[in-house]
Amino acid sequence: MRFEELDLAEPVLRAVVACGYTEPTPIQGSTIPEILDGRDLLGAAQTGTGKTAAFALPILDDLDYVGGRGHMVLVLTPTRELAQQVSASFRTYGRYLSVDVATLVGGEGFGKQLQAISRGSQVVVATPGRLLDHLQRGNVRFPELRTLVLDEADRMLDMGFIHDVRRIVRRLPRKRQALLFSATLGPEVEGLARDILHDPVRVGVKPEYQTVDQVDQVLHPVEASHKRRLMLHLLSSDGWDQVLIFARTRRGAETLAMVLRNRGVKVEQIHGDRSQKERNAALSAFKEGRVPVLVATDVASRGLDIRGISHVVNFDMPSNPEEYVHRIGRTARAGASGHAATLVTLEDWATVREIERAIGLEIPRQVVPEFEPPWREPVSSGPRDWDGKGIKVVYSAFGSAKK
Ligand code: AMP
Repeated sequence: MRFEELDLAEPVLRAVVACGYTEPTPIQGSTIPEILDGRDLLGAAQTGTGKTAAFALPILDDLDYVGGRGHMVLVLTPTRELAQQVSASFRTYGRYLSVDVATLVGGEGFGKQLQAISRGSQVVVATPGRLLDHLQRGNVRFPELRTLVLDEADRMLDMGFIHDVRRIVRRLPRKRQALLFSATLGPEVEGLARDILHDPVRVGVKPEYQTVDQVDQVLHPVEASHKRRLMLHLLSSDGWDQVLIFARTRRGAETLAMVLRNRGVKVEQIHGDRSQKERNAALSAFKEGRVPVLVATDVASRGLDIRGISHVVNFDMPSNPEEYVHRIGRTARAGASGHAATLVTLEDWATVREIERAIGLEIPRQVVPEFEPPWREPVSSGPRDWDGKGIKVVYSAFGSAKK
């Protein structure tokens, strides 16, 4: 299928071409015609499938058709980062339309947000808490709303935003199109969908990522201060020819990349302090094999199509099991298994146990001889229990863990 077959307005199509997209992803191919047709939609799709464009393109098509100003589109996302990313996508795909996007997220002042609202931005992208604040202060209203999008609804529920979301929805006009996207479709998401969507089309796409049991996983216990040296050691091993390394913070990613570069490793980086242009250049260098190592943060790499790599390294522990599964899924290689190594410091073991419970698997431990830490893995206070019933980990340096 080609984008031209989708019946999108010319300026929207032009923006898609400018992005270098040649054909719609499966979720785009199946949802865009339905959304253009005005249907409500329940989409089971993860980040990385192209779901943002799947809703942004037909919405922009509608805005092009309607014209004028006023808040016609509201997108709710669970996190600030996602809100910013979605706003950026609307601006990118809407670059040949006169579309104004306001981003209303917590953690920043109200002033700039008020200005953005008062311009009558057609698109409002918000996290639930901050939007509710604005609504309750009477800063914003949505009498002209045409389309409501709930993005990553399952995460919104996990993060406890369900009441906020419902409170917001109660303040919106009843007659509007609603689109709900979620990586998973549990009973809670289905419940929300029943309340918010009217006779929705259901569209699902399989995740692009391999499941974890196809990935060869290992944990390397290591002293925190030796992580960078261990990383260099691992990179010099055979077969480590395309390696994606995850760091927790922008600064961490920056420092690691610098250390590796100083030791002669060709490395690129993707994180929030780099411009989109720099990120794209880094990504192509990595994907085309010009640079064998890419250091990334979760947020910056979210949604990027980085697949088919030989090794993923969790230089810093992911913050939760979902992130772990997401990260290691990047090693998907057709037919072959990928490799995922996680560096584990003393304070990381509680997260390790959470991950192991979630994936139902004990990940093999492998101490790299020169890097044996001065402590042993803390033992859990109860019997080992992979069903998630009350493991309490008691930490102790040097292995004398209390039972
Ligand atoms: P998302 O799932 O919305 O986070 O998008 C994942 C990534 O795919 C983003 O970096 C988009 O820029 C990119 N993308 C979206 N649609 C397409 C397409 N049709 N062709 C190529 N890349 C795309």
